Amino acid sequence: MGTICPLDVEFSDKIAALLKPPSPNEVQKYFDQIIKTRQCPGLKMKHDGEFGKGIYAESEFREGELVLKDQMLVGAQHSSNKVDCLVCSYCFSFIGSIELQIGRKLYLQQLGLSSSKECDPEAYSHISKECHLADSSDGEDDSSVTDHNEGSCSYSEPKENIPLSKEVLESLLNGDLKLPYSNEFCLPSTVPCPGGCGEAHYCSKSCAEADWESSHSLLCTGKSSVSSSKEALLRFIDHANDLVGLYFQVISYTILRYKKLKAAQFQHQEQYTGLNAIDSSGFSLLLEAWKPISMGHKRRWWDCVALPDDIDSSDEASFKMEIKELAFKSLELLKKAIFDQECAPLFSLEIYGHIIGMFELNNLDLVVASPVEDYFLYIDDLPDAEKEEAERITRPFLYALGGDYSVCCQGSAFFPLQSCMNHSCCPNAKAFKREEDRDGQATIIAFKPISKGEEITISYIDEELPMEERQALLADYGFRCRCKKCREEDP
Ligand SMILES: [Zn+2]
Ligand SMILES: [Zn+2]
Ligand SMILES: [Zn+2]
Repeated sequence: MGTICPLDVEFSDKIAALLKPPSPNEVQKYFDQIIKTRQCPGLKMKHDGEFGKGIYAESEFREGELVLKDQMLVGAQHSSNKVDCLVCSYCFSFIGSIELQIGRKLYLQQLGLSSSKECDPEAYSHISKECHLADSSDGEDDSSVTDHNEGSCSYSEPKENIPLSKEVLESLLNGDLKLPYSNEFCLPSTVPCPGGCGEAHYCSKSCAEADWESSHSLLCTGKSSVSSSKEALLRFIDHANDLVGLYFQVISYTILRYKKLKAAQFQHQEQYTGLNAIDSSGFSLLLEAWKPISMGHKRRWWDCVALPDDIDSSDEASFKMEIKELAFKSLELLKKAIFDQECAPLFSLEIYGHIIGMFELNNLDLVVASPVEDYFLYIDDLPDAEKEEAERITRPFLYALGGDYSVCCQGSAFFPLQSCMNHSCCPNAKAFKREEDRDGQATIIAFKPISKGEEITISYIDEELPMEERQALLADYGFRCRCKKCREEDP
């Protein structure tokens, strides 16, 4: 085996306590509270021994009605997507201006930074195809939705992107060049990270503060970084893929929550007993800080990760060994960067595996439609005379962007309530961003009328696929579907 993390041995009992599934009572209390704060009184989380958690309707929903907007617990833009879209690092709204979005992307592309391709309907099957659609209740079927990214703009797009001069790009970036009608698409101005890292940007001071408090103060590589080794932190970030980055956020989130709870307890003790020593309940505070995560994690990454197609099943053991070693290496770097003795069990391989597994199994995509796409569609829709005039200026930019003009913000996030929604191949709700849903919250819309008491289901996959293909995809989530449609097709 080889990789044994000393922390796993030293803190095995604490790790077991952290990973112990919360009692049904605790789970119920936690989700009742979340439903209250989300202001979605029409919902109820119910726990059932056989199928686990599920979300049920407490009132009726009409077709097209909003069921839930779920705020993420942690989430991040895919690193490959950062070239394409400049978004708020906390709420994921697009920021800056249309000019900045276009100029920055072309500038970075010309520097040779690769960009992600358009929302890939394979990889983001259950959400990104609904990336952005005007009206949810107009009964359009999925096929028109999937076409969304494929040349909905009537400009004839060149196959190869035609580059623009550096001077033109600079004038876009510094605001000297204004594109026609761009003021129809005003975006919040960019607020830099208060820690000075230059990596995180925000739409507002409140988002900057909220992110700093929830996790960024530990992740920030700027001058105000609290990391014990900025070098290790930078190396860790360099080395981390998107999933590992999310793990890092979960750890930071938990440590900061722990510190807040501890500070609150400290104050409380001073106030009521005059004592200023922290008692031995430090670990119970860590358990409390960890609670939101304990509601979501399921299985260890190396036990649930799907074997890539190019790996023979006889090599499964060595493949799993390999990812475990990779995990071990990133943990070593992370420990150098932000290790906290009071939260030591969080830095174990076992916890690491469970957190990554939580993202693997829930696979919740973060998608925000691009205002740049709307901008070009708007120009395309102008009356002929205005359009001709505007296109004279905008066409070179569209040609420079090529097919990439419509790339949306893409990432992964953990949404506590959405992750409790069970799958059905004939769902009654779906993750569906409306025109006004321009940030990283998950939006769930009733897909058909839902009556009181009914379970709310969404589809994790493309439910139009044939039965066997559906089951194969769902196997990655660890179950075989027995929904109404599946029972009818395979009695
Ligand atoms: Zn924001
Ligand atoms: Zn920062
Ligand atoms: Zn099914």
